[in-house]
Amino acid sequence: MSLDELKNKIKEEIPISSVIGNYLSIKKSGSSLISLCPFHSDSKPSMHINDSKKMFKCFACDAAGDAIGFVMKYKSLDFVDALKEICQSQGLNFESYQEEKKSNPRAEMAKKILALATKLYRKTATTHKFPPYDDFIKKRGLNEEIASLYNLGFAQAKNSLCDYLSSIKDDSERIKAFDTALELGLIKKDRYNEKAHYDTFRERIIFPIWDQIGHVIGFTSRVIRDDQKPKYLNSIDSFVFNKKNILYGFHLAKNAIREKDAAILVEGNMDQVALYNNGFHNTVAVMGVALGAPSLERLTALTKNIFLALDSDNAGFLAMERINRQLAEKGIVAKYIEFSPQKDPDEFLQAQGALALQTKIENAVAAYDILLDRIIPEKLPEVLDRKLEILNKAFELVSPLRTHLAATERVVNLAKRLGLKSEPGQIVKNYQEFIEKIEAKEKTAARFNLKTPPIESPSHGFESDENELSETLMIDQNSELKLQENNLIAFKIPMNKTEKLILQELVQLPSLLSEEKMLELLDFVTCDEVKKYIGKVKKIILEIDESEYVSVISNVINSTDYSSDLREAVSSALFKYKVRELDNKTKSRLISDMKTKLQMEQLKIKKEVIKKQQQECSAEEEMTELLNALSEIEKQLQALKKTRR
Ligand SMILES: [Zn+2]
Repeated sequence: MSLDELKNKIKEEIPISSVIGNYLSIKKSGSSLISLCPFHSDSKPSMHINDSKKMFKCFACDAAGDAIGFVMKYKSLDFVDALKEICQSQGLNFESYQEEKKSNPRAEMAKKILALATKLYRKTATTHKFPPYDDFIKKRGLNEEIASLYNLGFAQAKNSLCDYLSSIKDDSERIKAFDTALELGLIKKDRYNEKAHYDTFRERIIFPIWDQIGHVIGFTSRVIRDDQKPKYLNSIDSFVFNKKNILYGFHLAKNAIREKDAAILVEGNMDQVALYNNGFHNTVAVMGVALGAPSLERLTALTKNIFLALDSDNAGFLAMERINRQLAEKGIVAKYIEFSPQKDPDEFLQAQGALALQTKIENAVAAYDILLDRIIPEKLPEVLDRKLEILNKAFELVSPLRTHLAATERVVNLAKRLGLKSEPGQIVKNYQEFIEKIEAKEKTAARFNLKTPPIESPSHGFESDENELSETLMIDQNSELKLQENNLIAFKIPMNKTEKLILQELVQLPSLLSEEKMLELLDFVTCDEVKKYIGKVKKIILEIDESEYVSVISNVINSTDYSSDLREAVSSALFKYKVRELDNKTKSRLISDMKTKLQMEQLKIKKEVIKKQQQECSAEEEMTELLNALSEIEKQLQALKKTRR
């Protein structure tokens, strides 16, 4: 059974009330089922559960979705984990879905070879006596239980993997195996003899790396002698291995993260092993200096309490800054743990022990407080403008949090520390204006110059879907890079209020989608996922029967392609969906009206941008130009307003 089939089975065969009934007490009220809503503080049952529509909706806080969506939201699980949880409570066999992927021979071969290499390295480590491996394990204080949990291995000073592959009897199978091992970077071609190969990992301690479910997708290795270079050697990025999307140890740590409602993020796999070994089971490691979007989603779905425990060197500090910013963009204020004079948490544990680390965790302060401290010079400047410069830096620093209290409180505090005399209210107002400026910039950048970054396809290891990948690759690579360089605009453009309303109208009136005028409307939509949704549904509705509409659409949005905002907006509208016949005149009027609303929204944004430009403009000529542009926009706005009457 495929994951998709399982998803459908859950949707079609299990009443949503039976899933939600596992967590909440459901009452009957007239013909409907109701319950206290767990997503806001509910005093009268506001949540309605509809078995025939297979959806729930809270009429107070607007939370809505299907059974899977409920479990994801209620238990903060990602999609796959929510499926697992439902299977468990409903007596379905989740594991059986994993047999689906046999259809992808390339991935199957990769899986086979990685499993084989893991076994080979592990067997070498356990059956032979290799002093460097044994010393390493001993020195790190790892016992056999941990070594076997992590499948630690050893690669000898010979081509063990190549030898094994050469022993495959079937010719075509052997050739495929070599090709795949090459592609995965486990073996390399001999520079002088095209036909000969050698093992990439030799005389190294081997750590398998897993995807979030626990499939081996690659290796990292460590030298056993000082004269070997490089000290750490990783698998190369391949179709199964993408460093940015890996949280090392996630499958081992996720239950502990959920239970403790906290995660410790370290920089290297050795640190992850060391912390786990010392009882900090809720630890995961990043495999680079930034988190990929899927890793970020996965982690923050489990907890919002994140401790950044990176290396104490400059690179570690930079990584801390970057990850802190990524988390802040999701409204999360991460804590920071510093280890100097030791260089990383592993060394710290060896020097000071687990209790000392526990104390450090308990006393950890927000990363933002460390970063803000750093922008205040030891000797406070006396010149006012210099102080304002520092305040501005602080605005910039906390701006990913937007107008979150965690940001405004901090800037008010900092202003006080700088000895500024303005009232807190004034500081907050200035900060809000700063944020508005950034938001306007982001909107225009996205609209006029740059494409939004692609919604990264989540790494499922072997489950990676070829179609999904090629879709991501089609997006201009350069623009993605540009976006990553400039943190300020490196995030998806969320839908604006008007877009949300229009999206919901379209969900309720799907017949509008097949109108020709829809194409003009799409030109005025800026949010990529809204466009994507409309494009997708437009095709689908031509092929389905009205009676299938609600279930088909809730299937469409049940994908990691869409943000929870979009999912909720669509679900909420779907809940109220009724089949409605519209005549052509009404259809045409409705679409024109939507288009006008979108146009007006865009003009308003343009207006904001020009107003900002005016504030920064000094040349008279330019000022006149801006004024003209402004009055032109005003005219257009008035004209649009008239058409709406
Ligand atoms: Zn609610």
